[in-house]
Amino acid sequence: MGGGRRVTGECSVVMAAALNESHRRFLQTMMSQGILEGSMINLAETEITRMAFDYTETELELFKKTMDLVLESENGMVSSTDILNLADQLQPKKMKKKEVEQVLQRFVQEKWLCENDGEYILSTRCIMELEQYIRNMYQDLVKECNICHNITIQGQTCEVCGAKIHFPCAAKYFRGRDDPCCPNCRRFWPHEIPDVSRSEQSMPPPSSTPKMRR
Ligand SMILES: [Zn+2]
Ligand SMILES: [Zn+2]
Repeated sequence: MGGGRRVTGECSVVMAAALNESHRRFLQTMMSQGILEGSMINLAETEITRMAFDYTETELELFKKTMDLVLESENGMVSSTDILNLADQLQPKKMKKKEVEQVLQRFVQEKWLCENDGEYILSTRCIMELEQYIRNMYQDLVKECNICHNITIQGQTCEVCGAKIHFPCAAKYFRGRDDPCCPNCRRFWPHEIPDVSRSEQSMPPPSSTPKMRR
């Protein structure tokens, strides 16, 4: 149960958690019976609509625009200033900066975003749960890690061929190698080899079962 969760605009329904589950089952049933077609409601949209039960339309718009900024950025991060500047552009209604701040806090509390020193990144939960959505919406921007083949939003990029590697994957892959080279094009890897423990936060999504930490 969501406890004292406040009622959200258009979707002012109680017990968001229970509803999420039944909503998902409802959609699955509809799809399995061929009532809903892929074109009407594809998986990507299902994932983001699951979030819709917890957030208003405008708040969801803020989240999508934040994802745009993250995906368009070089380093997979976006500053709080840039997010606050979205306040005026939101549909269907604008938000005050103060409100944006509050919603941002919720995104962090509910583990959709991670914040560090005023910079926001997508959380592991976000990348896992919205993977299909991210792949569909940002086909041209999103890259797979050359090592683990999961989506890479934060990582190192080969300056020659553009191959991308997560920080933790780079840490493991290059550990102990004297002349690190790109796993794709074999040219010299010019980046500093990251420290595994430090880059824990940007770990790629675990495949299905949670792995034990070593
Ligand atoms: Zn990886
Ligand atoms: Zn390369």
